[in-house]
Amino acid sequence: MKPFLDKDFLLSTETAKHLYHDVAADLPIIDYHCHLDPKEIYEDRRFENITRVWLGGDHYKWRLMRSAGVEERYITGDTSDREKFQKWAETLGLAIGNPLYHWSHLELRRYFGYEGALSGDTAEEVWQLCNEKLKELSARKLIENSKVKAICTTDDPADTLEWHQKIAEDKSFGVKVLPSFRPDKALGIEKEDYLTYLERLGNIRSFAQLSEILKERLAFFVSLGCRVSDHGMESVPFAPSTESEVESIFRKRLAGVIPTADEQKKFKTALLLELGREYHRLGVVMQLHFGVIRDNSHRVFRALGPDAGIDSIGDQPSIKELAAFLGALDDTGELPKTILYSLNPNDNAALVTVIGAFQTGEAVGKLQHGSAWWFNDHKQGMIDQLTTLAADGYLAGFVGMLTDSRSFLSYARHEYFRRILCELIGSWVENGEYPDDERALRTIVEGICYRNAETYFSLA
Ligand SMILES: [Zn+2]
Repeated sequence: MKPFLDKDFLLSTETAKHLYHDVAADLPIIDYHCHLDPKEIYEDRRFENITRVWLGGDHYKWRLMRSAGVEERYITGDTSDREKFQKWAETLGLAIGNPLYHWSHLELRRYFGYEGALSGDTAEEVWQLCNEKLKELSARKLIENSKVKAICTTDDPADTLEWHQKIAEDKSFGVKVLPSFRPDKALGIEKEDYLTYLERLGNIRSFAQLSEILKERLAFFVSLGCRVSDHGMESVPFAPSTESEVESIFRKRLAGVIPTADEQKKFKTALLLELGREYHRLGVVMQLHFGVIRDNSHRVFRALGPDAGIDSIGDQPSIKELAAFLGALDDTGELPKTILYSLNPNDNAALVTVIGAFQTGEAVGKLQHGSAWWFNDHKQGMIDQLTTLAADGYLAGFVGMLTDSRSFLSYARHEYFRRILCELIGSWVENGEYPDDERALRTIVEGICYRNAETYFSLA
């Protein structure tokens, strides 16, 4: 029996161990999509205790605790941080097979030097140890200790980006912290507060003006190093329309009327196409996240708002519309580099074949099937994503892992990914499916863990 989470965790063959320890482990990290707060990076936030770091905003953990029958007051309620930690420790202690078990223990090992297993019985010693170590740790130290080269945060077009500017001016911190352009609110024409949001962007009286202002904001983002955009949606829409149709839909919304579902789709298609062309012109990567049903529990949503651990996988994505949307941009040679993420793992093979249909010599893996996302971000989900990409696409050109996290401790997830990747590649080599060619294997592993992202996002 292997010891729990030893140095060869998840690595079962000599080739896998070699690739991980001698090639992957020490490579820097490019975290090209996350939700860290740039203000906390600039101010070098410190944390009072492990509950604040771990449970403060982590809805992955909240839903696991609810699944274990923990009362809400111990999750997001007014109980003490120590009480919340106890309930978390009791929950995690039995969470066999859940990625949180591995992530949390990797974090305990790497950042706090704790070699044991967290449970209700060990909660007190872990609480004491972590809180003691946290006195020495801060946002920047955690980032630097994890060998992070670049971080792409997620930002609204109306954001002033003042914290990104301040970080860039601070010569004491060498990590690139770049904004990413996420205009979901500008596309959310069906939302009740849409007009209030438009006011934040400027005095907008037409669709053409909206499009123009967003392009100006994008240029501003790019001037501060933005390399990537991001869109979150239930499914990628495609419903072409004429200019005058879109203008009249937009005027209707300005007059306070919510457009019909068909009209909403036409508006979103038109704006996404405008933005897609601009991304291409400016060399900005387009990320599309879809296949989600948000805020399923209205009861919890009323109490806590969005991102409260009440979302799920949806079955709505239409591959046909997604392909038509990409095809419309490709038609005029204006398809930007694009990364597709569906929350529904049943879409994996279809997405890899869609990206294959639009690849060109412009870049290695110009279109990407994104790293196993959210509910798929676990051992089997990663193996499925990597295997499908290898079988139907070009794994060697993959830009690899991202944290998609709000926590400064999440870099351990890159280690988790690298171990799984090396185990998978190692198994193919050991099974005679690929030669034991050191140079080629190094190129592949280094590429997926670090170099491909550096090139793809122009971060060298
Ligand atoms: Zn995200």
